[in-house]
Amino acid sequence: MYVCGMQILDGKKAAQTIKDHLKLNVAQAAIEGKKVPHLAAILVGTNGASETYVAAKVKACEEVGFKSTLIRLEDTISEMKLLEEISELNSDPDVDGILIQLPLPKHISDEEVINTIDPDKDVDGFHPASVGRMVQGLPTYIAATPYGIMLLLEHYKIDTKGKHAVVVGRSNIVGRPMSVLLSSNSNYGNCTVTICHSHTKDLKAFCLQADIIVAALGKPEFVTADMVKEGAVIVDVGITRVADATKKSGFKLKGDVHYESVAPKCSWITPVPGGVGPMTIAALLKNTYRACQMKN
Ligand code: NDP
Repeated sequence: MYVCGMQILDGKKAAQTIKDHLKLNVAQAAIEGKKVPHLAAILVGTNGASETYVAAKVKACEEVGFKSTLIRLEDTISEMKLLEEISELNSDPDVDGILIQLPLPKHISDEEVINTIDPDKDVDGFHPASVGRMVQGLPTYIAATPYGIMLLLEHYKIDTKGKHAVVVGRSNIVGRPMSVLLSSNSNYGNCTVTICHSHTKDLKAFCLQADIIVAALGKPEFVTADMVKEGAVIVDVGITRVADATKKSGFKLKGDVHYESVAPKCSWITPVPGGVGPMTIAALLKNTYRACQMKN
């Protein structure tokens, strides 16, 4: 029986520490007459969740003293026109980082869009050049969510070396890069990693072996207490809007982990909200700061 007691991997707190640090650096840079980082975000259409995410990113830029530009485009925009917008940002010397809020309308290819971003401004870390460098352990922009999770593990000094990590989900933006980072030969890596997906047979058996579970499948409260080993570290990436008439917004946010039952069993757990979400934004800010530094 695990007896040490569960602790919260508080993403809000850890993200605040990172933001405070960036804010100081930016203020100092401004005093020295250096350039302030500038993030340009493109939002196509009016998807409610995307609006919320972009607004949070723009607000975070303001908080730390970055410049930000939000470009809103109609969801009827052609792929060609969107690629032209990106090319303009690529050649704008004042723009350090470019973010295209996903998902995009169905008639636009994510791949074309991502490939058009200048890798030097790819602060979301989705460009194949960034992904390739990450896989090789070279300095690069790492996708904000997995990078944020690594920063969270670092903040709380979670011992990962030699641990068995099970990553549930293999998307290009979360699960796959997460599996690479946790298995990399670096601080807060060196795990033995199992990556699971919708074709995994007996997911529960893998989860029960895990010292660390990263749940990134997008199915609310999917990971339940019977799937978790006593004392495991749980990172819940999922954010799903579930209808809730008692809320003003009409919904509440649910993670991929059944928090109430899982929390008492584990050593560390991220809440939803307040766990991975704020860390994703902090990681994006760090990438944007790096982009500005590299260029100037
Ligand atoms: P995707 O839908 O792109 O990927 C989901 C992955 O989960 C796929 O690899 C899929 O497998 C796998 N999966 C689905 N069902 C099961 C199942 N029953 N058992 C095992 N694996 C399964 O989602 P994302 O990676 O983009 O996002 C995952 C979640 O994280 C979402 O809730 C999203 O909203 C959230 N998110 C949160 C962020 C944050 O800042 N906190 C940032 C980004 C995402 P297969 O490949 O076989 O289809």
